[in-house]
Amino acid sequence: MNPQHFLHIPKHIAKLDPVQKQTLTSALSPQQNPILSRLSKEIIRHSKCLHCQSERLRKYGFSHGRQRFFCNDCRKSFVNTRGSAYFYQHKPELWQKYLQHMIELDSIRCCSKVLGICVTTSFNWRHRYMKATQNTYESKLEGIVEADETYFRASKKGERNLTRAARQRGTKASTSGINHIDWVSVLVAKDRNHHEFDHVLSKVDAAKINECLGCKIADESVLCTDGQPAYNQLCKEHHLFHVVIKNNQTQQGLYHIQNINHYHSQLKRWYLKMHGVASKNLPKYLGWFRMLDWHKYQVFSSDINTEAEKLFEFKLLQVQQHNFKA
Ligand SMILES: [Zn+2]
Repeated sequence: MNPQHFLHIPKHIAKLDPVQKQTLTSALSPQQNPILSRLSKEIIRHSKCLHCQSERLRKYGFSHGRQRFFCNDCRKSFVNTRGSAYFYQHKPELWQKYLQHMIELDSIRCCSKVLGICVTTSFNWRHRYMKATQNTYESKLEGIVEADETYFRASKKGERNLTRAARQRGTKASTSGINHIDWVSVLVAKDRNHHEFDHVLSKVDAAKINECLGCKIADESVLCTDGQPAYNQLCKEHHLFHVVIKNNQTQQGLYHIQNINHYHSQLKRWYLKMHGVASKNLPKYLGWFRMLDWHKYQVFSSDINTEAEKLFEFKLLQVQQHNFKA
């Protein structure tokens, strides 16, 4: 604008009515990023310092567009992204779009092309968002719980100093059976309320299963398995009623393992689309799949209407935020 013309604007501001002043203020203030404003709201709602857990917080200006908070107890400040998956991440205007593409299962290269970011950034974001899903479980499994192991081909993709010759993806394993060199075992458990638990097992034995699943399953639940003896110790220690579904049976009344078998087949089909996952990244991919599966059964409350509001209810977005302990 011509500087001479601009000089006339302040003269008219005094004549504006309150509604016009409000419109002008919102037009001049920067567009609020929905993810950043949600992070700030979360901190205000829990009112907890991220350094010392004190409740004596106050707003403390902005830093690079992020709301800062100041703790009156420890005298330290922090930005609203601290403790979340977005900490030290640039381009906040693209975070939501990127997560939306992840929900639609777009590849790293596709996200890079559509959002105009480099492939390395797209890769780093993908793994950062997946990491947040890794140890996020809904709640304890209870009622009728189905558990079974499934196996994925071991992959050392991206690793240096291999102790064996490199191999092409899709080549056959060295032996026809399951061995711990060629295969990675994953324990998956699921209850009838669509709560899932998964864990990469270094070895399928009673101690390992008890260690990882024992704290995730409510006592006195019913555990349905295919009869693997390694579950006996878990059932004994946690007073679980163990129902063994033999190979030649489909179900025993209410009890069956069809849900877990269906979950395995869906997981395997989805996993194939990822075109080779390194075994070290497998827990992250299991977490991502768990988020997508939760979404299928998600029921939205009646006051959520728009697609944008629904997106924010999606677990994949929610787990990127702060993990405040109740
Ligand atoms: Zn503090």
